[in-house]
Amino acid sequence: ANTLPRPDRRRVMTVANQKGGVGKTTSTVNLAAALAVHGLKTLVIDLDPQGNASTALDVEHRSGTPSIYEVLIGEVSLAEAAAVSEQSPNLFCVPATIDLAGAEIELVSMVSRESRLKEALSSEVLDEIGVDYVFIDCPPSLGLLTVNAMVAAQEVLIPIQCEYYALEGLGQLLSNIELVQKHLNPDLEVSTILLTMYDGRTKLADQVTQEVRNHFGDTVLKTVIPRSVKVSEAPGYGQTVLAYDPGSRGAMSYIDAAKELANRGTVNGKKEGTL
Ligand code: ADP
Ligand code: MG
Repeated sequence: ANTLPRPDRRRVMTVANQKGGVGKTTSTVNLAAALAVHGLKTLVIDLDPQGNASTALDVEHRSGTPSIYEVLIGEVSLAEAAAVSEQSPNLFCVPATIDLAGAEIELVSMVSRESRLKEALSSEVLDEIGVDYVFIDCPPSLGLLTVNAMVAAQEVLIPIQCEYYALEGLGQLLSNIELVQKHLNPDLEVSTILLTMYDGRTKLADQVTQEVRNHFGDTVLKTVIPRSVKVSEAPGYGQTVLAYDPGSRGAMSYIDAAKELANRGTVNGKKEGTL
């Protein structure tokens, strides 16, 4: 595969939307795999106790495995918890185990509870490996784990499902991002919105697409991810859709989205949408 341009500095992207089932995990693992296949060193941090990203990347995540939980509570280093994915030597994953489920509460009483992930990511190991992209797959909530992800990142990528009520809840997400910008991480910006599960047979999908583009303008990637059975089947085989069916529309669309992401680079200035 052709290589994509390396970013000037490492891009850390938080994939967030407190709604479940909008394509956070699917977008995380497939964008990461697409970048890795095109020569960019990419690290996925699974920050959801469900461990779906770990499953899709076929990385061990039984309870007790060194994972993002132990990293957050300071028991192991990021390097100790990171595994190389079978899918590409450029693709790494720090898995999540079910132990992470208690972390929201455990973190509350810890020092620098909002910036523990940021501290872990400042590890020199990432420089040594030459990691170009970090994707943080958030749980479907706006709790301390998601706050940690927002403090650790420069960019937020919001997947939006092309469905009825697509914009519902986004106001809350955006105001949380504003709070983080104001108090914890002034560099954070919503750089990317990705439309997912687009069903071309419905008029509704087009309406939602148009509405999202009207609100968010160029922040929305031109590439739209179609609804595709292959995309939903892949994790069952411990694979991204790129590995499961490289020629499928789903795989191609994630490659296009990754190319767009890499080619347009870090987005020009701040321009969050408001609702
Ligand atoms: P989230 O992480 O936001 O909860 P997921 O990425 O897990 O969302 O996606 C929710 C469900 O939808 C999963 O079963 C996933 O396989 C499926 N899915 C995601 N994207 C697509 C797509 N483009 N086509 C078909 N199914 C999809
Ligand atoms: Mg998920």
